[in-house]
Amino acid sequence: MAAPKFEVPKLTGYAETPALKEGATAHVKSFPASEPVQAVIGFPGGLVEDWHDKAIAKMGDLLGRYRSLRVFMDACVHCGACTDKCHYFLGSGDPKNMPVARQDLMRQVYRRHFTFAGKYFPALVGAKDLTEDMLQEWYTYYYQCSECRRCSVFCPYGIDTAEVTMAGREILDTVGIGQKYTNEIMGKVHRIGNNLGLPGPALANTLEGLEEDIFDATGAPVKLPIDVKGAEILLVTPSADFFSEPHVESLIGYAKVLHAAGASWTFSSKASEAGNFGMFIGSYENMRRAALRIREAALDLGVKRIVVGECGHAWRVAYSFWNTLVGVGTGGEDPFSIELQKQLDPRYPAPQHICEYTYELIQQGKLKFDKSLNDHRVVTFHDSCNVARGSRMGDIPGGQFIIPREVIKAVVNNYYDMAEETIGESTFCCGGGGGILSDDLMEIRVKGALPRMEAFNNVVQEHKVNFMALICAICKAQFTKVVPYYGFDMSMVGGVHQLVSTAILLEKEEE
Ligand code: SF4
Ligand code: SF4
Repeated sequence: MAAPKFEVPKLTGYAETPALKEGATAHVKSFPASEPVQAVIGFPGGLVEDWHDKAIAKMGDLLGRYRSLRVFMDACVHCGACTDKCHYFLGSGDPKNMPVARQDLMRQVYRRHFTFAGKYFPALVGAKDLTEDMLQEWYTYYYQCSECRRCSVFCPYGIDTAEVTMAGREILDTVGIGQKYTNEIMGKVHRIGNNLGLPGPALANTLEGLEEDIFDATGAPVKLPIDVKGAEILLVTPSADFFSEPHVESLIGYAKVLHAAGASWTFSSKASEAGNFGMFIGSYENMRRAALRIREAALDLGVKRIVVGECGHAWRVAYSFWNTLVGVGTGGEDPFSIELQKQLDPRYPAPQHICEYTYELIQQGKLKFDKSLNDHRVVTFHDSCNVARGSRMGDIPGGQFIIPREVIKAVVNNYYDMAEETIGESTFCCGGGGGILSDDLMEIRVKGALPRMEAFNNVVQEHKVNFMALICAICKAQFTKVVPYYGFDMSMVGGVHQLVSTAILLEKEEE
């Protein structure tokens, strides 16, 4: 790791509220998207001439479409309860990273253009005209928010800064200011089908190679099938699972579980990406376009169930939006949604998380494990923010916290939770979610990881924890890059199904 060009926060053993450092991360800016990148996802490639009127019109459109946004703009009483809840503020000390300040970037313009007092007495209510400088400030600080929703848990009015950030990004895109990282990836999904831009034949080759590797390691004929018409289960997983480390270890884990259960299942080359960055930029149209690939694949293949792999924001989109977006679950009313609802087996959740799937098999006694195979590991679990605060699992309250832990405890002997105030509903973001996972934002990623690193370090010191289990592709990519800045080894992070993969016992192929 090259020496960082910024100061890495020191681990102190306790979470401190930092001293205010005005403008501390004002220089941390995402690379902008080029014109061709913007064109693929339907936005202008540079600041449009009538940007002011267009931005205000878009804000009006969003305020009309989402009543919640108007409530969030009006309801804040500046009580301050959210100020020290954001990991980016805790790691940087920049007051503009306080959630209320992030919201105020939009609120001051909202007041000027959409409230009586702001129109006639702007100075009295802190209303401001939208300027080009202000747009640039939005671009900086709306891309220093991972849309993790932690602040909303502590707000007495439930104001959700993530939704404000999404609206801010959508307005920016509408006037031609887009972020390279997120928008380029959206374009790859539309053109090729997944975030990595992997064409179908490359995917099929990779899966074949993995089958050979698993056979060599276990002697079991585990298959990773693709595009199998008539399969019962469609597994949709983040494309990082196919290639990246440690993600691929979880992919192997899913395949072993499905094999042990004797399931009929398939991947799809059309739906080779569970991730959906449309949510990150607040773009309903892009989110729907990406989700439609999954519906098309499910209808083409005739599957009865859809299972989603380890990916936090993908699960949030699947659990919270797929129903009305594309008819996976009840909600969609167009003919294709209705057809899909008739096709899917109502005895199973639609969609279902891979942890729910594995947990159900564990409860039914259908999987055999040797936990001691994980005895070299002392494990903790990081609740991914999108799973924790944007979704559920199972039909039990808090299932999204219970089920992954139950799966882990079924396959390891040594498990310790991190401090209560840093897990479950109060979990801290990894620091790389919501469109922040790019190298140009490394400083904010490292600083934003501080609260999680403090909590992790405490269980490392106290219980000799040496493995942080994750159920999110972004958390895996973020932590492998960032934990070395805090003195940990990147092998200390991995997937929940990586642990399952280590402990599961499979029958060898008969000679
Ligand atoms: S990153 Fe999370 S805690 Fe910080 S402002 Fe955004 S939603 Fe709130
Ligand atoms: S906690 Fe809620 S009401 Fe209080 S300052 Fe933050 S956003 Fe405003």
